Amino acid sequence: PRLLEDEEGGVLFFSASPLSSSSSGYGRTNIEMLRQRLPVYKYRTAILYLVETHATTIIVGETGSGKTTQIPQFLKEAGWADEGRVIACTQPRRLAVQSVASRVAEEMDVKLGEEVGYTIRFEDITNNDLTRIKFLTDGVLLREMMDDPLLSKYSVIMVDEAHERSLSTDILLGLLKKVPILLDNALNTIVYLTLCLTMLSTQIQRRRPDLRLIISSATIEARSMADFFVSRTRRSQGPEKEENIPVTEPAILSVEGRGFNVEIFYVEEPVSDYLQKAVSTVLSIHDQEPGGDILVFLTGQDDIDAAVQLLTEESQHGRQKGLMVLPLYSGLSRADQELVFSPTPRGKRKVVISTNIAETSLTLEGIVYVVDSGFSKQRFYNPISDIENLVIVPISKASARQRAGRAGRIRPGKCYRLYTEEYFLKEMSAVGIPEIQRSNLVSAVIQLKALGIDNVLGFDWPASPSSEAMIRALEVLYSLGVLDDDAKLTSPEGFQVAEIPLDPMISKMILASNQLGCSEEVITIAAFLSIQSIWYTAKGAEKELDETKLRFAAAEGDHVTFLNVYKGFLQSNKSSKWCHNNFINYHAMKKALEVREQLRRTAQRLGIALKSCDDDMQVVRKAVTAGFFANACRLEAYSHNGMYKTVRTSQEVYIHPSSVLFRVNPKWVVYNSLVSTDRQYMRNVISIDPSWLREAAPHFYQYQQPNPLAR
Ligand code: ADP
Ligand code: MG
Repeated sequence: PRLLEDEEGGVLFFSASPLSSSSSGYGRTNIEMLRQRLPVYKYRTAILYLVETHATTIIVGETGSGKTTQIPQFLKEAGWADEGRVIACTQPRRLAVQSVASRVAEEMDVKLGEEVGYTIRFEDITNNDLTRIKFLTDGVLLREMMDDPLLSKYSVIMVDEAHERSLSTDILLGLLKKVPILLDNALNTIVYLTLCLTMLSTQIQRRRPDLRLIISSATIEARSMADFFVSRTRRSQGPEKEENIPVTEPAILSVEGRGFNVEIFYVEEPVSDYLQKAVSTVLSIHDQEPGGDILVFLTGQDDIDAAVQLLTEESQHGRQKGLMVLPLYSGLSRADQELVFSPTPRGKRKVVISTNIAETSLTLEGIVYVVDSGFSKQRFYNPISDIENLVIVPISKASARQRAGRAGRIRPGKCYRLYTEEYFLKEMSAVGIPEIQRSNLVSAVIQLKALGIDNVLGFDWPASPSSEAMIRALEVLYSLGVLDDDAKLTSPEGFQVAEIPLDPMISKMILASNQLGCSEEVITIAAFLSIQSIWYTAKGAEKELDETKLRFAAAEGDHVTFLNVYKGFLQSNKSSKWCHNNFINYHAMKKALEVREQLRRTAQRLGIALKSCDDDMQVVRKAVTAGFFANACRLEAYSHNGMYKTVRTSQEVYIHPSSVLFRVNPKWVVYNSLVSTDRQYMRNVISIDPSWLREAAPHFYQYQQPNPLAR
C-alpha cells in the first residue's frame, strides 16, 4: 500500500534562514519595470482611494495581475504601515505564503524576515520591531485572533484567494461577520463575500474603524456581479459622507486582466491513464509547437515525481533535447522552488509539473501551453468512519477555466484537456465543494469555542458543514474533557488544548504527560507525529529501510521508536551522515527538532514543566492513551491476518506495514491515524493495557453497549 501524500498538510522543508535579497538575479530597475507592467499597477491610485474610504474593498483580478505581490507594497508606500502598524496578507497555502513573501522581499530589496516576513504553523519568519508586511496562512491569522480578537496590530488585512474557500477562510469570514443572513448555497462566492463583509462593520470593524479589509479573489465569473455591486457602492458615496469614517458597504474593484486568447483542445476518447497521456502530450507539444513553456497539472507528489522521471528520461535519450523538467508541490526545497520561477535558459523549454498550487496561488511567467489532467487531490473526511483521506477527484469547471487561463499570460496559448468535451460540458460540476464540507471539524470547533462562539451549531457558516461531522467533533471534544456538559470549553484544560496548535488529541496527550511526569518524551513524540515521515523512502530500497528501522524499533510501538531515533540523532551531534546511514530524512529530522522547540515554548507558556521519565515507557504509553483512547483497537481473537477492530465502531483495521508493530500484533493498541488504501491501515501505533482506557476516559468507555472492555 502506498501512503497518500498530504499535498498541503505535511510539514514543509524550507530552511528558516532568510534568503539573500537578490537571489533570482533580476536587477533593481528591471524589477521596477516588471512591477509597472502588471495590470494592478494602473489601479494603484484607485485601490488606495477605495481602501482609504471604505472599510472593505473587494478586488477581483485574474491570476497573475499582481494582487498578492503588489497591493501590500502599495499600501506600505501609502503609509499604512507607519507608526509600527502591520499590513497582513493571508493565503490558504503555506507554499504560497513562503513564495510570495520572498518575492516581495526581493522586490523591495530587503531581507526576508525583516521588513517583509511570513508566518506559517511552526515557522515564524518575522521580526516584532521591523516587520511591516506580513504574509501568513489564514489558519495562523485565526489563531492570532484568539490572543488578540481585534487584531489590533494590523492596519489592513488582505484576505487573499478568497475563491479557494479554504476552511480557515470560511471561518474567518464567518467570524468577521457574525450576523445571520440567509444564503442560498448556489450564490456566487463573490456575492456571498460581499454580503458578509457588508456586515463586517457590525463586529470587529465597528470597534476598530481604522481597520481596513481587502478581500481578493480570482473568480472569473465575478465581473457581472462586480458591476452590480459597483453601482450600489456608488450610491452609498453620497456627498453627505462624513470625513474619516469609512463607508461600510464594500467597494468592488475589478482589475482588467490582460489574458490572451487560449485555444482549448479535448481528447476524443476518455483517457485511461492521465499520467501517461500527460507525458505524451508534453512530448508532442515539444515536437510540434513553437517555443514557450509548458505547465502540466497533475495531483500530488507521487504522480508529479513519476512524470518528471519519465520526461527526464525521454529528454536524456536524445529525442527530446532541450526540455527542462521541474516539479512544483509543497515540500520542495527552496532551491527547487526558485528554479521554477527563474527565467527559462535560452534554447530550452521549461516544463513545470504542478499540483493545483499553480492554478491561482502562484503565477509562472512564460507559460504558453497548459496540459490539464482534470484531477486534483483533495481532503475528504468521512465522519462515520472518522477517516480523513486525500483523494484524487475530478476538478470543477471553474478550476478547468483557471487552469486554461495560465496559458494566455504572455501571448495566445493552448490548453490540452485530457478529458472529453462532452465530459466537460455535461458532467463536470460547476464549482468545487468548500473545504468545510469535507473536513474533520474538531479543530474548527475548538477554535470557535476559544474565540467565544459557543453556539457552533448555530454559527453562521458560509456553507453548512454536515451535521455528522459536527456531532462527531463535539463528541470527540467532550470525551477529551475539552468541553463540559454545557458544551463550553473547560477551564483550564479546554483553553490549554485550544492554545496548542495541534490536533486536540495530541494536545491532550501533552497535558496528560505533565501529570504523568514525562513531558520531555511526549513533546518529542508530538513533534514527530506532526512530520509526515522521518524515514527516507527511496523506491527499491524498501528492504534496507525495514532492516535499518529495526535498529530503533521498540517493542512498545512507533511512538517509543521515535524517542530512540531522537536520542540517536542527538548523540550523533545532529549529523546528516548519521541520518544518511540510518535511512532517516535529515531535513525531516531538523524540522522535527524545530517543531519540538516550538512546542516546548508553548508548553512552557501553559505552565507545563519539562520533565523526563527517564526510561519508564509505561507512563509515556499512558499519556498517549490519555489523548488517543478513542482510537483504541483490539486484535480479533481468531484473526490470522492481523485484523483488529476499533473499540468505538467495530471497524476492521490493520497495522500499517510501515509500523514497527506490523506482524507483531499486540492485543491492544491505539493508533494515531487511519489511512485507507486496499484496507484501513493504522499509522503510528502503540501497544497499551486496556485498563488504561477506562482510567483515561471513564465517561467514554462507561456507556458503550455492550461494554467492549468486558469481552
Ligand atoms: P496575483 O496575486 O494577482 O495572482 P501575483 O502578485 O502573485 O499575482 O504575481 C504578480 C507577478 O509576480 C506575476 O507576474 C508573477 O510571475 C510574479 N511573481 C510572483 N512570485 C514570483 C517569484 N517568486 N519569482 C518571480 N516572479 C514572481
Ligand atoms: Mg495571488
